[in-house]
Amino acid sequence: MTTSERVEEIAFDSSLSVSERSQRITETFSEQGAEGPDLAVSCLLKTTDEAIAEYAAAYLELVPGNSEAKTRAAERLRGAGALASSAARLVPWLPESLIDAFIDDFLSSPGEDSPLSSVIFSIGVYHPDLLRPHAGLLGPTVRPSLLSGAPDTQADALLNDWHRTGDGDNLQALALIRTPHAADLIASVRAELDSFDDWEWLMPLAGRLPDTGSESGFTPSFMGFVTARGESPHVMGGRYAQDVPLCVQCNAPADRVLTLSARDMPQTLSRDPSFFWFSCDCDEVDILTVRFTDDATYAYFQPQGPAAESSRVVPGERSMTLERHPNQTGVSRPAVAGLARHQVGGLPRWPSPETHPYCPECGNFMPFLAAVDSGPTPFGPMSFPGSLFGFWCDHCSVSTTRSQI
Ligand SMILES: [Zn+2]
Ligand SMILES: [Zn+2]
Repeated sequence: MTTSERVEEIAFDSSLSVSERSQRITETFSEQGAEGPDLAVSCLLKTTDEAIAEYAAAYLELVPGNSEAKTRAAERLRGAGALASSAARLVPWLPESLIDAFIDDFLSSPGEDSPLSSVIFSIGVYHPDLLRPHAGLLGPTVRPSLLSGAPDTQADALLNDWHRTGDGDNLQALALIRTPHAADLIASVRAELDSFDDWEWLMPLAGRLPDTGSESGFTPSFMGFVTARGESPHVMGGRYAQDVPLCVQCNAPADRVLTLSARDMPQTLSRDPSFFWFSCDCDEVDILTVRFTDDATYAYFQPQGPAAESSRVVPGERSMTLERHPNQTGVSRPAVAGLARHQVGGLPRWPSPETHPYCPECGNFMPFLAAVDSGPTPFGPMSFPGSLFGFWCDHCSVSTTRSQI
């Protein structure tokens, strides 16, 4: 049986749920190793079935690189009627000329029921600047994405609206612009806020920590992809050599989710940060804090002990491959968890904005460093709900991992 026959068989297997079909088709392509992306692109070049197009594009969205092949697939989808919506998953890899062509197509017949509306939605997330000139023609679902990097005049107008109406949504929108000017405006209203609590989440949302004023993230921003062991120096899962935090209820060791290799990153980090999470269902904590030294790790607020032989939180031992995020300002639209959208560096994309944790060593708020999402990987699904947000105090070598569901 060829790969495309196998994909069709799974796609039409009524005994499987949609997410099971998606995971199995992803694994089918993935089993073909380096051939997988080309096989998925061949499938997209000839299929006339919307479900198959969506499954093949969903697999390609989990794979880094392959920009040329993904562009070829997107060009074909662009002229394939309802199938065009699957091109939304390929937007991060498309050249600006093809993105502009999708925008022109949409504007010639705009509307939320257009098969291109999902492509436009995705362009708003990754390339808000390319959509901004057409903002007046776009529906309400796209507009929250266009806050990212909005011009200073729009930031000024939002601040004026807040002064006039007192509506806090204007300040949240202003913070989500995430430019230095918008951060200056948020900083300027500190004394006017009714609650200091608001300041503590608004300021980092805009890009600065509320106490030290330093950046609330580590630039630049990368998209992260779960790839085979050794494909990248950033390790996911596997067996962690030092002690890890233990669950206070069942004593199960936390698993290593991600260790970033500091020397392979443009961000200046003095040590390799690791982030951990539990695979037990005890639900005892929603935050884990660990300090690193040259030869040991120390858990705060939790007992600690040896790591498990293998990882269950991440399926097996893998790596995280990083690819520069097309939106370096910071995405303004809230994230939806469970879509395997991982991030390293940049500003966090919260499902709903939160304060950053503080470092138990120095007492300062910690900048964001990584977000690991649940959902499918080419090797099986992640086994935790929601998203994990990782913070790092480089001065104290302390990492904090927090779950948001
Ligand atoms: Zn437990
Ligand atoms: Zn610290």
